Amino acid sequence: MDLFKLSYYPFLAEAKEWVKEQGVSVEEILSDVIYERARRRAIERIEHAILKGTISEAPLTNEVDCAMEIFSYPIARMIAVSFENEYVLRRYALAEAKKAYERMKNEDMQFIVHIAEEFGMEIKNDAIHFSDYLRYAPTWDMKWKLVNRDLKDGYVSVAKQEIARLLQEAIRKKIYDELAYLYAPPEIKRVFYNDILRLRSKVVVRKEKKIRGDASFPDFPPCIKAIISAVKSGKNVPHVGRFTLVTFLNAIGMDEDEILKLFSKSPDFQEDKARYQIEHITGKISGTVYSIPRCSTIRTWGLCYPDERCKYVSHPLMYYRRKRK
Ligand code: SF4
Repeated sequence: MDLFKLSYYPFLAEAKEWVKEQGVSVEEILSDVIYERARRRAIERIEHAILKGTISEAPLTNEVDCAMEIFSYPIARMIAVSFENEYVLRRYALAEAKKAYERMKNEDMQFIVHIAEEFGMEIKNDAIHFSDYLRYAPTWDMKWKLVNRDLKDGYVSVAKQEIARLLQEAIRKKIYDELAYLYAPPEIKRVFYNDILRLRSKVVVRKEKKIRGDASFPDFPPCIKAIISAVKSGKNVPHVGRFTLVTFLNAIGMDEDEILKLFSKSPDFQEDKARYQIEHITGKISGTVYSIPRCSTIRTWGLCYPDERCKYVSHPLMYYRRKRK
């Protein structure tokens, strides 16, 4: 695949391989002046994803443009992860997938099948295996319900554009799942400190406008579950426990009123004071969205109650994302 194509689809295995072959370290990408364009483009990817729900097109006229575009993708992923915010991760994964869809619509069938193969989809004579179809089709839409489709010998007939739409969902899922395993080095927060700060305040505003988290209690890590049950049973939870809980619930998209409701059972509950503390931690009045403490910190506070899954995580959000996969 040529560099132009790779830059349109930087999530493909071939693009990752290309980056690896260049032998550039994360430190170089984050500090060398040569990669300044890639760093700027990475922030642009995230900003567009948050504000517009898609990724803007970059003008690509030569191989250097393409190389910067490809490098910007792994940087953007690390930036997305360092937000420690479910809303940002979901929005970013969807935005990248939508951008790919817009491109794929204009590709020929051979290329579409090539991408589909990478996602393990079985496509034969303009038809897709029904199990792949069901996995990725937006079946809340009548048009996509299996009963409304031509199904023959286990294959559903699909037009090229429809395969691209199914691939959009496969790409979104792949990107989101990969982010769950990604740890952003601390340098990311340092290099992009101002951008992250600026965009975080926009995330707060957007969440207020529309997002209500689809929080799933069974997937919460044991430390968070323990704090919640202590709060619910009216026990006095130390400040660091409350802080951990609020940062976590905020990161997964729960709004302030829902968080406040949880704390209403605390023995010393005072609505004004609790609201002030929550809004301070979530950045509404402080302008700073506080990060969830890492496992090592929670452990020193005596609030860690690890289970088997905890062996593989270093951060409560990582636990949650992996369990939700
Ligand atoms: S290891 Fe981490 S996620 Fe697991 S209980 Fe302890 S602090 Fe929570």
